[in-house]
Amino acid sequence: MIDQHQDIRDAVARLCADFPGEYWRKLDAERAYPAEFVDALTAQGYLAALIPEEFGGIGLGLSAGAAILEEIHHSGGNAGACHAQMYTMGTLLRHGSDAQKARYLPGIASGDLRLQAFGVTEPGSGTNTPAIKTFARRDGDRYIVNGQKIWTSRAEYSDLMILLARTTPVDQVAKRTDGLSVFILDMNAARGNGLRISPIRTMMNHATCEVFFDDVEIPADNLIGEEGRGFRYIMSGMNAERILIAAECIGDAKWLIDKASAYAKEREVFGRPIGQNQGIAFPIAQAYARMRAAELMVQDAVRRYEVGENPGAEANMAKMLAAEASWEAAEAAVQTHGGFGFAEEYDIERKFRETRLYQVAPISTNLILSYIAEHVLGLPRSY
Ligand SMILES: Cc1cc2nc3c(=O)[nH]c(=O)nc-3n(C[C@H](O)[C@H](O)[C@H](O)COP(=O)(O)OP(=O)(O)OC[C@H]3O[C@@H](n4cnc5c(N)ncnc54)[C@H](O)[C@@H]3O)c2cc1C
Repeated sequence: MIDQHQDIRDAVARLCADFPGEYWRKLDAERAYPAEFVDALTAQGYLAALIPEEFGGIGLGLSAGAAILEEIHHSGGNAGACHAQMYTMGTLLRHGSDAQKARYLPGIASGDLRLQAFGVTEPGSGTNTPAIKTFARRDGDRYIVNGQKIWTSRAEYSDLMILLARTTPVDQVAKRTDGLSVFILDMNAARGNGLRISPIRTMMNHATCEVFFDDVEIPADNLIGEEGRGFRYIMSGMNAERILIAAECIGDAKWLIDKASAYAKEREVFGRPIGQNQGIAFPIAQAYARMRAAELMVQDAVRRYEVGENPGAEANMAKMLAAEASWEAAEAAVQTHGGFGFAEEYDIERKFRETRLYQVAPISTNLILSYIAEHVLGLPRSY
């Protein structure tokens, strides 16, 4: 995304300079939420970048969102604490009613309301989303929700959740993807009224949780779009999600390559910089080439998205290639740093852990390969 949104990139980089490695390291050790960082991003309007101006946002395109997230990661930070707002908000924007948009989007744009939680995955269903069991039963002018979500990131720090639940049992629908519905859940009203959140300690600091629903009430007004069509609404946001995550991976790869290159020039062993050894230089050069190739795919996916195409293949490939490139860069950075790659104060081991996530979440590499095999190459469906 070279030469695109350079002004935004420079401004994000300046903001991130106030949140150096020490800041993220401390949070990582304490498994704490980067509240000050999220507040600073909100104050500058970055989390509202994609919200239309009529609702108080900046009304920029996806390329701006990608530039913001890439720069956060290129600075050594992590947007995982707040990135979901950029893509979950799209579900409300595209499929919500005028009343829902007027009610929630201005608060989300100003930062008074955080829409950070996205409740799709369940322990029993995993990647097989239509198999979810969480059920929302209609009862007059409300729905009563029972079930469980897992890996609901940022649930403790969110006011609102985009929730996918079954509203018609799977044995009563023509297609398994029918009978699922999307809700915007007011988590503040639900906390203590049947909603229970339990954090999961993970390899990296991601504020991810299990969420339990025990007769949680949601007003029928909070159903997004039509009942039973929720799977389509969630899928329609996936291209944006994949592209934005891919941009974060490109940022991670750039940071790791910068760090590895700098260390390889400065560290001397056997009386010469270690970067003079091709065994050190080549893996960094290889990671750079892979990052650049992935970056071109991200740019292509963004461009297609912004002209209104449905870049399912490009968004998936961008996410896969960028996640692989950042992991390759992380490998090279650890190897280049030798023992210091494992020392917390260098931040390499933190980034190594953080960037590993993206080959599994929000969609695992195997599922992307299945998508390409089936939808691009016309191979038989595997599942
Ligand atoms: C830190 C973190 C944060 C997350 N945040 C959120 C969130 O905010 N909201 C949310 O809803 N979810 C979230 N997730 C869930 C994430 O999207 C899933 O973990 C991911 O989609 C994989 O699902 P699973 O863990 O159930 O793996 P499974 O579905 O159990 O799969 C396990 C492995 O088997 C492979 N596999 C499964 N089926 C096939 C197949 N047919 N062909 C080939 N391989 C297959 C998968 O690729 C994977 O490698 C998060 C996960 C993590 C770890």
